Amino acid sequence: MTTEQLHQYFLKSSGACTDTRKISENCLFFALKGDNFNGNKFAAEAIEKGAGLAVIDEEEYHTEGKTILVDNVLESLQDLGRFHRNYCKAKVIALTGSNGKTTTKELMHSVLSQSYRVIATHGNLNNHIGVPLTLLRIKEDTEIAIIEMGANHQKEIAFLCSLAEPDFGYITNFGKAHLEGFGGVKGVIAGKSELYDYLKDKNSPIFMNADDPVQREKLENYIKKIGYSTEDKNYYRINFLGASPFVSLEAEGTVIKTQLVGQYNFNNCCAALLLGKYFNVPMVLIQDALSEYIPENNRSQLIEKSGYHILLDAYNANPTSMKAALENFHQLQSPAKSVILGDMFELGDDAELEHQEIADLAAASNFSEALLVGENFSKCKTGLMQFKSFEQLAEYLQKTRLPEGDLLIKGSRGMALERVLPLLS
Ligand code: ATP
Ligand code: MG
Repeated sequence: MTTEQLHQYFLKSSGACTDTRKISENCLFFALKGDNFNGNKFAAEAIEKGAGLAVIDEEEYHTEGKTILVDNVLESLQDLGRFHRNYCKAKVIALTGSNGKTTTKELMHSVLSQSYRVIATHGNLNNHIGVPLTLLRIKEDTEIAIIEMGANHQKEIAFLCSLAEPDFGYITNFGKAHLEGFGGVKGVIAGKSELYDYLKDKNSPIFMNADDPVQREKLENYIKKIGYSTEDKNYYRINFLGASPFVSLEAEGTVIKTQLVGQYNFNNCCAALLLGKYFNVPMVLIQDALSEYIPENNRSQLIEKSGYHILLDAYNANPTSMKAALENFHQLQSPAKSVILGDMFELGDDAELEHQEIADLAAASNFSEALLVGENFSKCKTGLMQFKSFEQLAEYLQKTRLPEGDLLIKGSRGMALERVLPLLS
């Protein structure tokens, strides 16, 4: 079956689906394989639950009229995503970087939706499966599609670009995330820059943070760059007004007060503002979009509980975002500030050093209390309190009440530090 033929089936369906728990009537089910499952085995169940057809790649599960047999389901899904992206007329904006992709994507979505029909990646579906699934959500009348691209090794962004064929791109930052898979910071820069390489080849516009020296260097001789800056007059000027605790900014005399905590969110807002300007969204609507946006999923949420102002940032963590969060928190004017920090994952050989640096930074910040939790943090040389496991931390928190005031909670997703919340009373 050619991709074009498969696309005909897709157009008659209600959309693509890969999970039998989320079947919608008349969807096209893709029987993907994982390390521990074989989607082919679920094809019949998908049809029973209402899928119009199932795309499979093992002949023994083939039923005429109910399944479409292809060589490789994943490749068919990816080819279909690319085909559909070209079939529709939407402009595609690709977004990658070490930190802040999802937040920036959501901010861009809020801003651009003020004037356009926009689709954007759902949640964090930013990999070799999520990207084609997102491309398949583009409708014939969609004007802009914002595609988040995640990567933890080289050539991944290049591949995702080959599927999404972006018209524009933005890299949030080059930080210390997924160091293991990328082979260090240089590897991260090379890997993420694959988006720049793709756009340069096509002579397409690139949005940039002109205050970021790495982005400046990478785009030095590139003409089609559209940047924002707090200081360089050659770029769109946006002023940082503060983050205590919410980020506020100013551009062209318009002050925008957001509901986002953390100075790092300033850049995320700037990127969305810059895109809004580029696509001619009126400033007052940009202001509405940025000031109304509230983050979800434990990503930099401000929670009031039992006398604590909790900055819950338990969605993920890596050395760059951890450092940004600690420095931001340190600057808050508050009599009592405590932190609970959990391990950062996927750092490979750098794990020991990076955890030690964060422990040192936390120690130097003179917080009222600083609790470190996780295997890695428990190995650091520090005077701070260390807990090898979450259970040990929980035991401590049940017996000891932290000083009332501001509390930063941050760690990698695997640490699930939102579990601390019910322990605070
Ligand atoms: P993932 O790799 O999980 O997809 P992401 O890049 O989509 O992550 P977000 O989910 O937007 O990132 O934000 C996760 C956390 O990263 C935030 O809670 C915050 O701590 C930190 N962060 C967000 N933006 C930035 C930034 N521009 N620079 C540094 N850290 C940031
Ligand atoms: Mg994300």
